[in-house]
Amino acid sequence: MKTALILGITGQDGSYLAEQLLAEGYVVHGLVRRASMFNRSRIEHLRTAPASGKLTLHYGDLTDVTSLRRILEKEKPQEIYHLAGQSHVGLSFEIPEVTCQENGTATLSLLEILRDLGYPVKLYHAASSEIFGAPAAAPQNEGTAFNPVNPYGCAKAFAAQLCRVYRNAYGLFACNGIAYNHESPRRGENFVTRKITLGAARIKAGKQTEVLLGNLDSRRDWGWAPEYVTAMRLMLQAKAPGDYVLATGRACSVREFAAAAFAELGLELAFEGQGPAELARRKDTGAVVLRINPKFYRPVESTTLVGDAALAKSKLSWSAKTIGPDVARQMARADFAALTP
Ligand code: GDP
Repeated sequence: MKTALILGITGQDGSYLAEQLLAEGYVVHGLVRRASMFNRSRIEHLRTAPASGKLTLHYGDLTDVTSLRRILEKEKPQEIYHLAGQSHVGLSFEIPEVTCQENGTATLSLLEILRDLGYPVKLYHAASSEIFGAPAAAPQNEGTAFNPVNPYGCAKAFAAQLCRVYRNAYGLFACNGIAYNHESPRRGENFVTRKITLGAARIKAGKQTEVLLGNLDSRRDWGWAPEYVTAMRLMLQAKAPGDYVLATGRACSVREFAAAAFAELGLELAFEGQGPAELARRKDTGAVVLRINPKFYRPVESTTLVGDAALAKSKLSWSAKTIGPDVARQMARADFAALTP
């Protein structure tokens, strides 16, 4: 029976990963941040439901190195999935130091602990497409040069490169999953996908009248989170450690994502900026107007982020199945279902 430790178990990916590992019969340990309020809504069902494996939660902090070391020495997990840290790009401009501490320095501390550990361990590090930022070419692959354009991307680039250094210098089994945006009904509500699908569901249910967004022409390579979590598991079962791009290979605009989500719930959508006459006509037909608020614009945007996951396909037999507009449709359906008893 295998033992795994998930750092960031209360997040979107952590909760899906815990589900998959428990179903595989793993003993799963999760690190939960100590806070005055519980933040366990995404894993509450796993604490009570019967599973083949066993789940134990530890209350501590990623940036508290000693507590992390103690958990590792006591539980001796063979696999560590490091998914923890402030993950919102927009927010990383507001709190860059916390973002770099949690995503950068804390990863270095973890690597140092693993270097000294008296038994072999495998590490999955959640790197991000944001390490590429403004890449010279699209699509990007594992050989593309890092060029982050926001504090989050800088922290992830630092941590990803250190994983490579510890792999090469000390033979540590460390893998970087260079994951492009991956979404689900468990995505935080301040990410654009969830904001759109939850907004569409609430409008359909008569609980909200409009959605305010930033840059509608922004494009992202959006995939389905549970599929990406499967790739994380596969990386640690491979013979040798490596870095893998996880992506759908198709970029979709915020506008296109929103159109798919609203259409799925039978709502007609009009975009601010379609011209006053057209907007008035659409409004008369009952269309929902999607408004722009400049406060949601980023100081700098990552551009042309679209990934080439050919290596994951050939080495891990993994590929993304749910792509952009399908992600929007599934999320909109799930959000609406959750609102209607
Ligand atoms: P990110 O790719 O990790 O930054 O994920 P987000 O979901 O936060 O943002 C994806 C893209 O949507 C970015 O290019 C944003 O500029 C754009 N976007 C447009 N409107 C919004 C909005 O209202 N909120 C957020 N979070 N992003 C928005």
